[in-house]
Amino acid sequence: MECPRKVKIEVLEKDAMNIRFIVRDADVPLMNALRRIALAEVPSMAIDEVVMIENSAILQDEIIAHRLGLTPLRTDLETYNLPEDCTCQSEFGCPQCRVTLTLDAESKEGTRTVYSGELVSENPDVIPVSDKIPIIKLAKGQKLKLEAYARLGKGKNHAKWQPVSMCAYKYFPKIEVPAKSCENCQKCVDICPKKVLTVKDAKIDVRDLLACNLCMYCVEACPEEPKRIKVEWEKNAYIMNIESTGVLPPETIIRQATKILDKQLLEFEEQLKVEEK
Ligand SMILES: [Zn+2]
Repeated sequence: MECPRKVKIEVLEKDAMNIRFIVRDADVPLMNALRRIALAEVPSMAIDEVVMIENSAILQDEIIAHRLGLTPLRTDLETYNLPEDCTCQSEFGCPQCRVTLTLDAESKEGTRTVYSGELVSENPDVIPVSDKIPIIKLAKGQKLKLEAYARLGKGKNHAKWQPVSMCAYKYFPKIEVPAKSCENCQKCVDICPKKVLTVKDAKIDVRDLLACNLCMYCVEACPEEPKRIKVEWEKNAYIMNIESTGVLPPETIIRQATKILDKQLLEFEEQLKVEEK
């Protein structure tokens, strides 16, 4: 039996919304489990209920509520509980599982756009990720007044709770260029949609290995037989890319995903023990 190796991670780039890293010595099921958990199980905050106090705007209450629900909110996982796990067990929620946001907008002159920045939250840490998200347009004299309740939820129940706009991984590419110069038709260089290859000193060279998405166009384009360029992927190495919607830092999302996977496996083990009894 092959002994388990330690997974190695190398962060390539990271900012407030994105993280890109190389994972080595992991297998596809693990990578896919983490990807799926990041998409569907890592909780985030979103508006789930809206009480309309006044709406004289042209959009119906339901459409406004839907637009508010899809507004990403900065999430604080330390302070809040998922409603199903909260001790209150109340359908209205409590301060540990609910955040109230209010909106009181009016157009006194001409038509104006109401933006997400006008939402006032009871918790200054739970606010829209951007204050430039348009919610509605109000014509002169129209009013919109409402109270909205945000809760933690999971992407598997509604896309508004999905903390990532993109979460994907690909195999780590391995490219072998001709050691000696070939006919030098440069067809492989020209056809690559990701501009991975280049010509250096009249030889084919790899310019940006990580950009390769293994499309194999370069291999197909090579007129020589056997093909002079070889494209493969490394066994058990991947490049993972996570783009957050801004609700949580991208590294927190993947960290939470590993915690959730861990918890699910423990629960599975517990269940097995119960079965054995
Ligand atoms: Zn509660």
